Amino acid sequence: MQESLQKLAHLPSRTRDGVQVNLAANISSVKELAHVMGSNASGVGLFRTEFLYMDRSTFPLEEEQYAVYREVAERLNGRPVVIRTLDVGGDKNLDYLALPEEENPSLGYRAIRISLDRTDLFKTQLRAILRASHYGRIKIMYPMISSLDELRRANLVLDEAKRELDQEGLPYRPDIEVGIMIELPAAVMISELLAQEVDFFSIGTNDLVQYVLAVDRMNEQVAHLYDPFHPAVLRMLKLTADNARLHGTHVSVCGELAGDIRALPIWLALGITELSMSVQSILKVKNSLLQSRGSDGPQIWRELAPCPSSAAVTEVLGRYMKSGL
Ligand code: PEP
Ligand code: MG
Repeated sequence: MQESLQKLAHLPSRTRDGVQVNLAANISSVKELAHVMGSNASGVGLFRTEFLYMDRSTFPLEEEQYAVYREVAERLNGRPVVIRTLDVGGDKNLDYLALPEEENPSLGYRAIRISLDRTDLFKTQLRAILRASHYGRIKIMYPMISSLDELRRANLVLDEAKRELDQEGLPYRPDIEVGIMIELPAAVMISELLAQEVDFFSIGTNDLVQYVLAVDRMNEQVAHLYDPFHPAVLRMLKLTADNARLHGTHVSVCGELAGDIRALPIWLALGITELSMSVQSILKVKNSLLQSRGSDGPQIWRELAPCPSSAAVTEVLGRYMKSGL
């Protein structure tokens, strides 16, 4: 199967009727780049930088981060990479940050909340990303944004980092694109406002499903309730895609659902044309994409919209799903 899928790598990433859907990779380390190129991904849609910070006893210095980001950008050879700023807390801890024990870690001190509190660390990371942006198509993405205020505060730190680099005469891409993860229900509900102040959205379905349904994504006991096909999730995706379109903001999906072939008809229905997923999923999704029809999108949505349950949603999706070579 994997061997026959490999033959698809060189084919354009399009539906049967020519709708282009970019398939990018989620990565956590430089090591994965060989596979990214091997699957002919359109780029890296999510670089999870927290792994640079883990399994060590001190924060990575600017130079060290810069070297990694630059290597990723250069090895992608002109393809874009979305670098997500530090997303620790919740399920990912750093001993040297001495995060407090929390009753509800996923509702607590994590991601952009830490960055906006520890602007020293945040600025170091942004400086490293900016400097690397001189060597490739780097974009910046903030995780766990819940308000316009957070976005603006993050951008102030970014502006400060740019000013410093200007003063030091260090080059960076001045028009670097800045986007946010849409992974909190609050962000979905104000996506119309957020869309006006960012270059792109990337929908993080892993956390979005967790927060919409109040189901801990790490808790086995409630795993059966973790349902990405719940109609509430579907409505959140629709609202985000519509608000992004309203303001000409690019939107992609980077949660696990992006790599699930059952969900492909949803993206066609919502007009989403970029998906980022684990490298192993890319050719499987491409296989489905090549057999799908983009022109089915509006009809798929007409059938999905009234679905009262996850069972009804999956029944519709099942009728449109394409699999097998
Ligand atoms: C997500 O929440 O969907 C996501 C892609 O980010 P992470 O899995 O790293 O939280
Ligand atoms: Mg997330």
